[in-house]
Amino acid sequence: MSYKVNWSYLPKQFNDKNIRDILKLLSKFVPTGDFTLGKPLKEFEEKFAQMVGAKHALGVNSGTDAIKLSLKALNVGPGDEVITTANTFIATIGAIAEMYATPILVDCTDNFCMDVNQVESKITSKTKAIVPVNLAGQMTDLPKLMEIAKKYNLPIVEDSCQCILGNIEGQCAGTFGITGAFSLHPLKNLNVWGDGGMIVTNDDEMYDKLSLLRNHGLRDRDTVEIMGCNSRLDTQQAVIGNWLIGQVDFITDTRIKNANFLDNSLKEIPEIIIPPRFSNRKLVYHLYMVHAKNRNGLYDFLRSEGIQVKIHYPIPVYQQPAIAKYGYKKGDFPVTDSQSNSLISLPAHEHLTQDQLQYMIDKITDFYRK
Ligand SMILES: *Cc1c(COP(=O)(O)O)cnc(C)c1O
Repeated sequence: MSYKVNWSYLPKQFNDKNIRDILKLLSKFVPTGDFTLGKPLKEFEEKFAQMVGAKHALGVNSGTDAIKLSLKALNVGPGDEVITTANTFIATIGAIAEMYATPILVDCTDNFCMDVNQVESKITSKTKAIVPVNLAGQMTDLPKLMEIAKKYNLPIVEDSCQCILGNIEGQCAGTFGITGAFSLHPLKNLNVWGDGGMIVTNDDEMYDKLSLLRNHGLRDRDTVEIMGCNSRLDTQQAVIGNWLIGQVDFITDTRIKNANFLDNSLKEIPEIIIPPRFSNRKLVYHLYMVHAKNRNGLYDFLRSEGIQVKIHYPIPVYQQPAIAKYGYKKGDFPVTDSQSNSLISLPAHEHLTQDQLQYMIDKITDFYRK
């Protein structure tokens, strides 16, 4: 079915003209043969670091790898515990599991992110790291989490895959912890033509170690200093990243503007509850989610009216069969559960028109007036 309001912005972001422009850049790049750890990658990393206000940025294969390599650099391994949140995408928990560590989950708050007040009671002698997730473009209460982490001398790896340019009092997501992990997946606010990820850090030693880890542990061509893996961001993806990165402010600001419009209109509808907004935080609305009465009915109705709404996530990840071995059961995380029943995600991307935004409001109003 074709939608009146599409979830995906990709056909607009990469329209014919933009594709031609990018192909021109690629046709200049390809003859250089600079395919691995090439000059455009270095350039992209420098721009990325500057954009989020970090000292270093390092391109890797995916957002998942950005989390995995961060944990590997912290020597997280078998028998260790890593505290994260029950309300996330599988990649966060998967990254911990791939290091053969045990994910220890806590519930979220009404802003979808880790309830940092539940962290301290989960810390044991086996805890090696904390991985908060800045979900949906919202921010974890990182200042508070930093205090707890400091008290126990634990590193924080921020999963900021959904929160590029989100901030608290001007400090960007990804720069509170020892590292921050970002995804360049096509569905993320800054994307490339396939998979990609970025790690940011202010720590020189971490940067050095991560640089080795993503490239087989090679100090130079003939010296393998540590065991690493191959997780380099392809240089041709960096060519696309360099083309798009200058537009990230526009993408972010337009999403915020759209979200403000939706907030202001939806607050008049008693069946819709808008999650908390914070005057000292920049929320970047990777996902625009609100609580809706009769959510499933609204979802079906809006879809039938040509609005490509989504649900993040219909089954909380902690209830997935793959996670069963960690012993969590339905009901363990009541806030996460209730959000999975009440939240609906509306398109709010930068290529929506005012008519499309108004159309969504009209249809939601119609649904509850029926
Ligand atoms: C997308 C995402 C990831 C993983 O990113 P990939 O680039 O797809 O590997 C990790 N965590 C969260 C919360 C994400 O949304």
